[in-house]
Amino acid sequence: MDPSNMSVVLSGEASAKTEALAKAEDSAVAQEAMADDTLDICETFASIQGESTFAGLPCFFIRLAGCNLRCAYCDTPYAFEAGRPMASAELVRHVRESGVSLVEVTGGEPLLQAGTVPLLRQLHSVGTVLLETNGTRDISVIPDAVVAIMDIKCPGSGMVEAFDARNIRRLRPHDEVKFVLTDRGDYEWAKNLLLEHRLDSRCHAVLLSPAPGRLEPAALVEWMLADRLPVRLNLQLHKLIWNPSSRGV
Ligand code: SF4
Repeated sequence: MDPSNMSVVLSGEASAKTEALAKAEDSAVAQEAMADDTLDICETFASIQGESTFAGLPCFFIRLAGCNLRCAYCDTPYAFEAGRPMASAELVRHVRESGVSLVEVTGGEPLLQAGTVPLLRQLHSVGTVLLETNGTRDISVIPDAVVAIMDIKCPGSGMVEAFDARNIRRLRPHDEVKFVLTDRGDYEWAKNLLLEHRLDSRCHAVLLSPAPGRLEPAALVEWMLADRLPVRLNLQLHKLIWNPSSRGV
């Protein structure tokens, strides 16, 4: 598949999904207009990193408000709403005071906000920095020292058309790619993309994550082993430890 053929503008069909996406884009435009030393913050908290190759490590999370997508299985819809403004210097101070040297900037979609890249540069002085993104915005703006964890949306998300496939070429050797899978169809879709673009050779790790309540991990493992895919099973540790609907974990 030619990546350039995969970048599709969302259709204008009159549907609830389209209206929700239009509202999400409006909110994205408002956030892009914010000053670049202030961010719209949903929540901050210390926990363990639950996904990626950093899973299990103590981590300070900065969850930014606002998202331009509406994934069918979204577990953080509270991040769609406006949060509270916080200066980047204040956020860096919170991370320092937490005593945790791994920090993840997540959302929502962090790359919607003008202040995200400047914040990432400042956080680098505190420790290792991860950025989770939904793959719809240009990831080449992410500073070299930051690890991007790019979530490529599968058909089961309902948001597959929104992915900017040019981001595949922008992956760096230390970045990670994640697919959240809802069924066998999503698995086959992700497998085809992985093999066609040799995603495993473009980045540090390709993570396959079964959507909780939609795909049994055992089924996914069986398919992975049968196909001998160069991927890593990605279970959300925080959902195994705490109530899956808990916030701030
Ligand atoms: S990109 Fe993430 S935060 Fe946004 S709707 Fe999808 S799952 Fe939710």
